Amino acid sequence: MAAERDVEQMPDWSAYRGVLIVVEQRDGKAKAVSWQLLGEGRKLAAKLEVPLYALVMGSDVEHLAHEAAAYGADKVFLCDSPVLKTYRTRPYSRVVLKLIEEAKPEIVLFGATATGRDLAGAIGTHLPTGLTADTTELDVEPPPSRLLLASRPAFSEKMMATILCKQYRPQMATARAGVFEALPRDDSREAVIERLECELQEEEIAARVLDFIEETGHVNLEEAEVIVAGGRGLGGPEPFAMLKELADALGGKVGASRAAVDAGWIKHEHQVGQTGTTVRPKLYFAIGISGAVQHTVGMSHSDVVVAINRDPEAPIFQFAHYGIVGDLFQIVPALTEEARKRRGVTVG
Ligand SMILES: Cc1cc2nc3c(=O)[nH]c(=O)nc-3n(C[C@H](O)[C@H](O)[C@H](O)COP(=O)(O)OP(=O)(O)OC[C@H]3O[C@@H](n4cnc5c(N)ncnc54)[C@H](O)[C@@H]3O)c2cc1C
Repeated sequence: MAAERDVEQMPDWSAYRGVLIVVEQRDGKAKAVSWQLLGEGRKLAAKLEVPLYALVMGSDVEHLAHEAAAYGADKVFLCDSPVLKTYRTRPYSRVVLKLIEEAKPEIVLFGATATGRDLAGAIGTHLPTGLTADTTELDVEPPPSRLLLASRPAFSEKMMATILCKQYRPQMATARAGVFEALPRDDSREAVIERLECELQEEEIAARVLDFIEETGHVNLEEAEVIVAGGRGLGGPEPFAMLKELADALGGKVGASRAAVDAGWIKHEHQVGQTGTTVRPKLYFAIGISGAVQHTVGMSHSDVVVAINRDPEAPIFQFAHYGIVGDLFQIVPALTEEARKRRGVTVG
């Protein structure tokens, strides 16, 4: 690997040092993926022996600069301006481009969210460098090559590809939410905070955000603390209503296996796994789900997994902290009733 790599053939990028995480926020609240990327960025920065930077952009977002420090950043660049109140490609990309030009980080990471993809893509069109999209594993080769090893599923998700950017800097990637682990928040941690000017004036920006209309019923599995997921064992779409009752009783969201989604029982946005969402809840119920690797890869980082399956040999039990062998149609209503009792909720 690194030793075999012919670094003589690579340009001299010694002016580029450090790992930069672009923090994503909405209404002053950071997306969990930003802190997860700081956790992963910390490891990369340690291997390269360089500082870990965070970039916070928005309006009235100074508190996020301190949060970025609490989640591991050594230095936070803060661009706080009314122009950045809501995300728009042009002013946000202008700030990131200027910072890249001045601070010269060797690695820049964004969350692979709708906003992160838009922003990273816009920056990629301005810089003579590559962008690896939707990575699920990140590593670096030690010096002298210092290459980012950005891995993601490829060829219809049948294999993992590791993508390198040998000839250009910075090395950029978007990374999937829920895959990496945030460091425990430590509010006593301090970082240097450097303010950046937002050079664009409102009159120079063609796009106006008139309103945000929340999509009703949108499931945000990435941020859910409790997920009640169902699979082919449910036998049809109707039992998902039973799972929803348990999820509501626990303040959670409903997830699903691909088998249930492919059968048309529930929408794809509920799918957990390799071709769905990667989740990291505190509590994950796998109900009537066998535990295929393409499913478990998306939920195995859950803090506590409870599996309900009538087959005691189901692979899901290898991932479960608590396993209940039996018929889900008996077990789920009993759990819901108990959860409601404990929360003092009465129904009917
Ligand atoms: C490229 C690729 C990508 C994929 N991506 C994903 C992905 O993102 N997410 C994903 O989930 N899958 C994905 N898959 C599909 C995956 O391989 C499995 O086929 C799928 O996860 C199986 O879903 P399941 O566990 O619901 O169904 P099954 O494997 O059929 O399991 C059903 C389970 O229900 C149990 N059961 C049945 N009745 C009851 C009952 N009454 N009470 C209790 N238990 C009961 C059975 O014992 C069984 O274990 C992918 C596959 C490929 C090839």
